[in-house]
Amino acid sequence: MTQFSHCEVVCPNCGEIGCEMKFHSVNTTGKPKLKMEVAKWELYTWVCPKCGKKYILSYPSLINDNGTMWVFTAHFSEELAARGFSGEIVIDDDCYDPVMAALWK
Ligand SMILES: [Zn+2]
Repeated sequence: MTQFSHCEVVCPNCGEIGCEMKFHSVNTTGKPKLKMEVAKWELYTWVCPKCGKKYILSYPSLINDNGTMWVFTAHFSEELAARGFSGEIVIDDDCYDPVMAALWK
C-alpha cells in the first residue's frame, strides 16, 4: 500500500510556497512505472513554480518492492547537481499539511 500526505515546501531560492506529496510508504510491487519514478527520484523532486529551480525532498520513505522493504531517504549530491538540482529541502515529521488543514476548516 502506498501512503502519502501533503506537505508545504518553501523555495530556498525565492521563498515561493508550494505543496508537494510526501510519500510515507511506496509499494512498487507490480508497478514498474512507479519503481522507475522511485529509482529516478521523481517522487522526491520538487520544481519551484516561480523560479523553476529543482530541489530534492529529503525524508525517510518506506519502499516495498515485492516484499523487499527498505527505507529510502533522498539526499542532495554532486550527481544530482549534475542533473540540474539546486539543493535539498528537508521535510520533517510535523511539516504543515495544507490539504489536511483545509479539510479541518
Ligand atoms: Zn523558487
